Amino acid sequence: MIFETVREQIALPDAAQLYGISSRNGNIRCIFHADSNPLMKLYTDHFHCFGCGAHGDVTDFTAQLYGLSKLEAARKLRIIVISATAAAAAFGTIAVIRKVKSNKAAML
Ligand SMILES: [Zn+2]
Repeated sequence: MIFETVREQIALPDAAQLYGISSRNGNIRCIFHADSNPLMKLYTDHFHCFGCGAHGDVTDFTAQLYGLSKLEAARKLRIIVISATAAAAAFGTIAVIRKVKSNKAAML
C-alpha cells in the first residue's frame, strides 16, 4: 500500500526540509492554521499541532502543504523516494531517506 510505503521511507522532518520548511528542534509554524508561534511539532513518523490539534503523517502534511489529495501526495512522495534512491545509487549518499525504525517519536 502506497501510504504505508512512503511513510516508512521518508521521515517527516526530512520531507519538510526538502519542501524548504526550516524547523527549530522540530518545531515549525503550523500549516493548518494561522500560527505566529511554531506550535507544530514534527516527529519522524507524524506531526502534531499543539495549537489546533492537527495530526497526521508525511502524506497528510504533503497533501495540506500543496493542496493535493492524499493519493496525489503519496505519489509525489514516491517520486521523491525513487529520485533519492537513484541519487544514492549514483552518488553514494542516502541522507534524504531515513528509514523509520520504530514508531517511537524521534525529534530532529
Ligand atoms: Zn495548527
